[in-house]
Amino acid sequence: MSAVIELNQVRQHYGKLQVLHDVSWSLNAGEIMGLFGHNGAGKTTTVRLILGLIRHSSGELKVLGGQAHDAKIRQQIGFLPENVMFYPQLTGLETLRHFARLKGAPMSQVGELLEQVGLSAAAGQRVKAYSKGMRQRLGLAQALLGRPKLLIMDEPTVGLDPIATQALYRLMGQLRNEGTSIIICSHVLPGVESYIDKAVVMARGHLEVAGNLYELREHAGLPVRIRVKGLAGTEFAHPAIQSRTALHDGWEEFAVEPDARLELVEQLLQCRPKDLEVRPPSLEDLYCYYTEKAGALGVAGVQQ
Ligand code: ATP
Repeated sequence: MSAVIELNQVRQHYGKLQVLHDVSWSLNAGEIMGLFGHNGAGKTTTVRLILGLIRHSSGELKVLGGQAHDAKIRQQIGFLPENVMFYPQLTGLETLRHFARLKGAPMSQVGELLEQVGLSAAAGQRVKAYSKGMRQRLGLAQALLGRPKLLIMDEPTVGLDPIATQALYRLMGQLRNEGTSIIICSHVLPGVESYIDKAVVMARGHLEVAGNLYELREHAGLPVRIRVKGLAGTEFAHPAIQSRTALHDGWEEFAVEPDARLELVEQLLQCRPKDLEVRPPSLEDLYCYYTEKAGALGVAGVQQ
């Protein structure tokens, strides 16, 4: 697989302040990557480097095989910022046509994209009458003009209702299947968890971890939670059990060492429970683990 983005030992200074410290990771064609980190971790700085808006202080950065600031490279990147701003007096259709002209994208895409983001019916309305979610969808259509090879989205689900959020994630999947690479920055970790191929977690300007969920879990070694219903009163002991907690409605939760989970499931099934669920560490659990390990969170969750 060819790399669409490659960062190798990238450093970034704002004046005397170093905000990126030897960051290295890569993104392949047709992959969806989540870029995560606490406020001030360096995500926006990384995105600005990839968009060619600023130049890195040292290290190597390749975007679509070239330099991020090269106009030919920038043309192939779509960007949806967190706060989308449009001219309020223009209609959705006029707005998108305006951006299509600016980007040199074919006008035929305007109608297709309005349809794709569910704004066809509102295309003739002025943007000032759009809800936040509608503006967000218009922003997405704008980012998709020119069919970019790389799409970067900053908090794309902010303002979207649950149905629109699901539609956005499905659209991401379609784009990925067509070969588009996607970076999504989000603090809504449970939402993106099942849609990303890999995660990059940053803390205080450092790369803490990069990989798919299985790799992140393997590396973290956090306990797996096995929930069982209908065991009440049954003695059950195993050295790999870290804790046993009673929940409601006859459910109990065992926190177990990850390597022993299959063996424990087998043994628990022999006790004939009414139900059983295995819950591996979630993206949120992993994010908290790696962020806390980096010492980036205080007890109240505030960056120190
Ligand atoms: P958030 O989740 O809050 O958007 P972030 O991960 O995107 O945070 P960045 O915006 O990349 O973080 O900021 C990283 C660090 O760089 C922070 O300490 C921030 O104060 C600093 N920083 C960002 N932009 C500038 C700038 N233009 N000049 C000086 N320092 C800056």
